Amino acid sequence: MMADHSELPAEEQLYPVPAHLLDASQCPKPWVSSLEQYKEMHRQSIENPDEFFGKEATELLSWTTPFHKVHHGGLQHGDIAWFLGGQLNASYNCVDRHAMSNPDKIAIIYEADEPNQSENITYGELLRRVCQLAGALRARGIRKGDTVAIYMPMIPEAVVALLACTRIGALHSVVFAGFSAEALRDRVQDASSRVVLTADQGKRGGKTIETKRIVDDALKSCPLVETVLVAQRTGAQVPMKEGRDFWLADECSKQPGYIDPEPMHSEDPMFLLYTSGSTGQPKGVMHTTAGYLLGAAMTVKYVFDYHPGDIFACMADVGWITGHTYIVYGPLSLGATSVLFESIPTYPTPARYWEMIAKHKITQFYTAPTAIRALRRLGDDWTKGHDLSSLRILGTVGEPINPEAWHWYNDIGQGKCAVVDTYWQTETGSHIITPLPGAIATKPGSATVPFFGIDLAILDPVTGKELEGNNVTGVLVVKRDWPSIARTIYGNHQRFLETYLKPYHGYYFTGDGATRDKDGYIWIRGRVDDVINVSGHRLSTAEIESALIMHHAVAETAVIGANDDVTGQCIHAFVCVKPGISIIPGHASTLDLSKELVLQVRKVIGPFAAPKKIYLVEDLPKTRSGKLMRRILRKIVAGESDSLGDISTLADPSVVEVLIQRVAKS
Ligand code: ATP
Ligand code: MG
Repeated sequence: MMADHSELPAEEQLYPVPAHLLDASQCPKPWVSSLEQYKEMHRQSIENPDEFFGKEATELLSWTTPFHKVHHGGLQHGDIAWFLGGQLNASYNCVDRHAMSNPDKIAIIYEADEPNQSENITYGELLRRVCQLAGALRARGIRKGDTVAIYMPMIPEAVVALLACTRIGALHSVVFAGFSAEALRDRVQDASSRVVLTADQGKRGGKTIETKRIVDDALKSCPLVETVLVAQRTGAQVPMKEGRDFWLADECSKQPGYIDPEPMHSEDPMFLLYTSGSTGQPKGVMHTTAGYLLGAAMTVKYVFDYHPGDIFACMADVGWITGHTYIVYGPLSLGATSVLFESIPTYPTPARYWEMIAKHKITQFYTAPTAIRALRRLGDDWTKGHDLSSLRILGTVGEPINPEAWHWYNDIGQGKCAVVDTYWQTETGSHIITPLPGAIATKPGSATVPFFGIDLAILDPVTGKELEGNNVTGVLVVKRDWPSIARTIYGNHQRFLETYLKPYHGYYFTGDGATRDKDGYIWIRGRVDDVINVSGHRLSTAEIESALIMHHAVAETAVIGANDDVTGQCIHAFVCVKPGISIIPGHASTLDLSKELVLQVRKVIGPFAAPKKIYLVEDLPKTRSGKLMRRILRKIVAGESDSLGDISTLADPSVVEVLIQRVAKS
């Protein structure tokens, strides 16, 4: 499958919109089908946001009371408000209206851990289940404005749980079910949740997870929790605490199959979600109803070019913002069929994704660079022999995608699919920088252009001045608010202001660095905290890592800055090699590989970027959402491994000990 990729630097490679997508005999006409149309719509969204978003909100959402004012407040004072006076309900928008017009349409394809156990849920069935759980929550005293913690595996009840909360105006606070008891406890406490929704056990990659036991551990120190509703995933015997724990199915069966949705004001809080914790203490980000829902619906329509009949598949966990927006609220608000994937990309084999696409005739497929790199590492054979002809759009999110990984992913689409590298955050609610499949030519590794309503700027990190024109690198900010931006950090508005709005007053600060290249394309360079300064050269982690991964032996890498007497900082690179390449410390072949890697960076970027140290390792520290945690590596190299900070969001804490040993020995 490996095509001959251009030897040009990624910035010079331009992949036009695939002809297939614009061929009316093959594909529905893209909503935005030319660069000119994108530019015109983007211009309107910035120059006349009230008219632009007022129209989108009226067309895409159903309101019980229409709004009378589109926008109020802004970034200056952190008093953002959209669609004032309007009332609507997210659960009604995602379920009822489709259940009424098309009750037998499939809302959810549940692709269970074992591939032969998938199950379809229609909109009619979804409505009944959402209403029953909503009724069960009400029966337990949950009212509008209360928070409900959800700690569930990727089972249909998880989707039902989110929609049941929004139906009655309760704020869901989903905690990824891979988190430890302590991490769960902290989030339940921080949000003051009185009810927890969970399951007996989870199933992932053939392994069983003791979900309920973890909840029991966490709740030992959560005195506010009165009720735990337990869904049955495996039917295993689990301890049930008298008076606190109830089977979710029993409680639901006592409830009627329909209850009215609670009317919500546009700015009523909709949910809380804690960030991944890549950079430090997770923040309980709060989104409100209308703006969030509009961002979700608009991006599924325009970025994934959703058309009726499409089968939409987002591989994220519902415990992350990507799962909220692109498994649940975005696709369902448009009445789409959404795939809920319980397993992992390598179970039972590394062909799982491709088999699933063929089986369900998936049209939009959305995953993360970490999964793409992991599959690329296992070789091309697994990708062969599957009918992927239903696909139109391949999406990626979560980290900068290295051009090598981008090419590998693009090859999956065999020139017929658009690759959309979508840049966004928990705080932005929906995509903010991304190609539109029918309109924007792509460059491997670039998130390309701003979405509608996003007025970007790149600032000089020191002076805070806007860097005008092209060919500039600095701090990525947004100049005005847009509908789906978070409104606050739960219980701590001051922290919201300080984290996002005060660092560069009047701007939304993303925390990421970016380049606007000669063609005006945006390249995310990684976290500002991770920038490395060697003799006055500011180097991005993404750039150096992408150079290293071009070497045939490299599967994945993380680079950091370490202190250096001469140059201020120098580069240390942690490199995971592909299977079959042996690493023997001190051995000639291993030393040669290290030298080759240094050479590779000198060649691609320049001598000043050459790593001073290369550590060949088996594994890297990642968050549970699969993102590299460079701050841990920085601490280890600096000899501060006794003060690693919050590591509760780390996927596999045992990696840290191995790395400490490795660094100490070198
Ligand atoms: P925390 O804020 O707690 O440190 P986090 O930033 O990892 O955690 P998320 O909101 O899940 O939490 O991730 C958003 C971040 O992910 C962005 O700020 C950016 O660094 C990175 N990111 C997401 N998508 C992309 C992308 N397409 N290209 C580059 N980076 C991306
Ligand atoms: Mg963040």
